[in-house]
Amino acid sequence: MIQLILPAVFRASQAPSFLIAAGQRLGSGKWNAKHLNSEMNDVNGLTYRKADLHVHTPESLCYRDLSVRPEQIVGAALETGLDILGVTDHNTVEAIDDIRAAARGQGLFIFPGIELSTPGGHVIVLFEENIPSDDLRNFLSAVGLPRESWGDASVMTQSSLEEVLEKTHQYGGINVAAHIERWPSGFLETGLPRREKLRIHENQYLNALEITIPQNKDLWNNGLMRDFPRRHACIQASDAHAPEEIGRRFVQIEMERPSLECLRAAFVDHQTKIVFP
Ligand SMILES: [Zn+2]
Ligand SMILES: [Zn+2]
Repeated sequence: MIQLILPAVFRASQAPSFLIAAGQRLGSGKWNAKHLNSEMNDVNGLTYRKADLHVHTPESLCYRDLSVRPEQIVGAALETGLDILGVTDHNTVEAIDDIRAAARGQGLFIFPGIELSTPGGHVIVLFEENIPSDDLRNFLSAVGLPRESWGDASVMTQSSLEEVLEKTHQYGGINVAAHIERWPSGFLETGLPRREKLRIHENQYLNALEITIPQNKDLWNNGLMRDFPRRHACIQASDAHAPEEIGRRFVQIEMERPSLECLRAAFVDHQTKIVFP
């Protein structure tokens, strides 16, 4: 009988059955991942990392307190036990280098990202850990966001959402449709015709959905939402606009090591690799 060690966040009686199944299947897997911080969870050789993939900084013009320092954001993330933070300002990457510098040696993995406003809704794009911020600035100009629009959520890309998804892919990044049910900027709640929303949902470069109604996770995961048959990975995230909001929503993601490749793999294998708290 394989013994299952559950982390504190999963009470034994509440452990999802698929997690136990995965733990049994991979139970002999070796513990070889580097410890990032004490909140990381090891379930029978599987390493679950606490991730908040949608967080803003004062580079977003709508941030609550524009005097907040990068160190405060990193500190707040560590305090809430996060292993992984996605830095996703509105239409800008100007905070990325400062956050990366503040996080260095602190045990917090940073995904450089952007929350893009597109005519088809907001989309979170995440890139390789060490991508130069100049490459990200080139990406912004490639999707039609000139410098004067950086940080301003009310300015939309000159590219359609589907063009943005493809451009992200060309730059090596991954796409998560942001807060999909939130009016008016979630892709389900824009003014676009329904057939275009269905096409966005089916788009091969859309890697996951950020949902705000966690009760619907299984429906999206299993392609059971009416008219939306594609099975999609789901996350939830804080969309923090203040340090104290960081980690208010998060997911546990099974990754051998934190990297864009492992995140991509977790989205593909989401039934076992992504757990809502
Ligand atoms: Zn948004
Ligand atoms: Zn946001």
